[in-house]
Amino acid sequence: DHVANQIAAGEVVQRPASVVKELLENSVDAGATEIRLVIKEAGKSLIQVIDNGSGMNAFDAKACFQRHATSKIKIAEDLFALHTKGFRGEALASIAAIAHVELRTCMEHDEVGTQLTIEGGKFMSEEPVVAPVGTSIAVKNLFFNIPARRNFLKSDQVEFRHVIDEFQRVALAHPDISFSMYHNGSEAFQLPAANLRQRIVGILGGKSNEKLVPIHEETGIARIYGFIGKPEFAKKGRGEQFFFVNDRFIRNGYLHHAVIAAYEGLLRDGSQPSYFIYLDVAPGSIDINIHPTKTEVKFDDEQSLYAILRASAKHSLGQFSV
Ligand code: ADP
Ligand code: MG
Repeated sequence: DHVANQIAAGEVVQRPASVVKELLENSVDAGATEIRLVIKEAGKSLIQVIDNGSGMNAFDAKACFQRHATSKIKIAEDLFALHTKGFRGEALASIAAIAHVELRTCMEHDEVGTQLTIEGGKFMSEEPVVAPVGTSIAVKNLFFNIPARRNFLKSDQVEFRHVIDEFQRVALAHPDISFSMYHNGSEAFQLPAANLRQRIVGILGGKSNEKLVPIHEETGIARIYGFIGKPEFAKKGRGEQFFFVNDRFIRNGYLHHAVIAAYEGLLRDGSQPSYFIYLDVAPGSIDINIHPTKTEVKFDDEQSLYAILRASAKHSLGQFSV
């Protein structure tokens, strides 16, 4: 059973970036306004997320590592009910089965918090601790008990890129939350709570502000907002391209095509624009197809959405380009 658990966990947790995603989303769910990610060796030796969210009491601190120990409401209309199915209430249990985990957590009116350690799914220690309100979860030596998985990891450079991708997706989905990230002791990102434009600029850096054109459209099927890159700043290869649906990062090849179509005649050969497009839709109007590493969404009325998105992007480009 122990081995079965490890294997199951290894399927769900593909790489350090998978852990980063789960921990960051938990911190967001806990109502944190400040979230810090600390990693070492691209997350292979350490992934730590520290938040100032609700924290947990001593009972929940232990329970959260049990399979299906979710405190989150399960309702059919929950947009990502499907996304989380099979993983809902399982992330921490899975991670703890294949790593060394240290949790420290404290709730607002509690005098002491809880500190506990788990190794390969076994509780090793639990003690009261004086801690700030919120939660810190440190995940060390990921895959220590699944050598095949550990050996399968890519170079630090590649794994770090995956971690950055997940970090950026969560940070872009929640500009109102302050995020920071440290790698091997140095600061990689410092993103104060901001509006969307500032958040994007904080991530892209440099003179990206002048490269962005706002996009905005409201129709019966979706509210669309965000920014798209001016064509003259399109890059060879893939640009920074993001879709968010109801504040979650998703992929959608069809809508991607709609955006690219709006740039018709404006792009040099092989160059791709950046875009940061947010769609708010009625949860009942989408279908989510889940794969451990991807989040793909199919919209009921995809063709209308395509037309609307393309027209809206085109309008923005026409209005703001010089
Ligand atoms: P899920 O997020 O699907 O509920 P997880 O395994 O990711 O499952 O987390 C299990 C539970 O642990 C959560 O439902 C939540 O109650 C608690 N939890 C996890 N991370 C945090 C956190 N950073 N702050 C407060 N509670 C947390
Ligand atoms: Mg979770």
